[in-house]
Amino acid sequence: MDEMSDKKISVAIDGPAGAGKSSVAKKAAKDMGYVYIDTGAMYRAVAVWAIENNIDIKNDTQKLIGLLDNIKIDVSYDENVQRMHLNGKDVTERIRENDASMGASAVATIPEVRVFLVDMQRKMGENGGVIMDGRDIGTAVLPNAELKIYLTASVEERAMRRYKEYIEKGIECDYEELKADVIKRDENDMNRKASPLRQADDAILLDTTDKTFDEAVDTVKNLIKATEAKN
Ligand code: C5P
Repeated sequence: MDEMSDKKISVAIDGPAGAGKSSVAKKAAKDMGYVYIDTGAMYRAVAVWAIENNIDIKNDTQKLIGLLDNIKIDVSYDENVQRMHLNGKDVTERIRENDASMGASAVATIPEVRVFLVDMQRKMGENGGVIMDGRDIGTAVLPNAELKIYLTASVEERAMRRYKEYIEKGIECDYEELKADVIKRDENDMNRKASPLRQADDAILLDTTDKTFDEAVDTVKNLIKATEAKN
């Protein structure tokens, strides 16, 4: 509790898939009394809506854009765990399925979808006291965030972490395939036209390749404390 300050700031954490952004951000937020906002979950929710309404994201893009107002996304918190509601239905687990991951990366290329979600994300972050993670938080969603962190790790390390996670859960997988997936997602995120993933000029680079989870969390918490003290 002594880690909680009454001078809370806004923290933007961006970086490539599998770098550990969400688990690090979630733990730092819990320890420091911040609200954690996972923006990737919102892209996933839009993808699930499209899938459930038989909209082919790549070919029926205009139809999806025209129907965006029918998509109601709400976020609630259950012990610091962000739960996602899509038109009143809890989709927290559904959005983690593979079709939702692929769909999220496709809807994320549509500028109108980004405007729709960025607007919601800005409103959620406007009062500060948030740690928001995604791909464009420091560059587009919260350009005035007091602290911006670009959290990354090598391709091999990110693939290895995912590999270990699957093995621990008893899911069969192939390291080389996981590595190819990481490379593909990096390419998609960094080369799309609408808000590509890049390190904001004023973001601090945090490479976690040789860091343990606890070391990464401590680094983020120390950066937050130092920034709170300056503001
Ligand atoms: O972070 P996560 O993997 O859940 O994000 C799902 C997809 O949403 C990613 O593939 C990424 O391209 C997209 N995304 C984005 N901008 C964000 C958050 C996620 O484009 N702020």
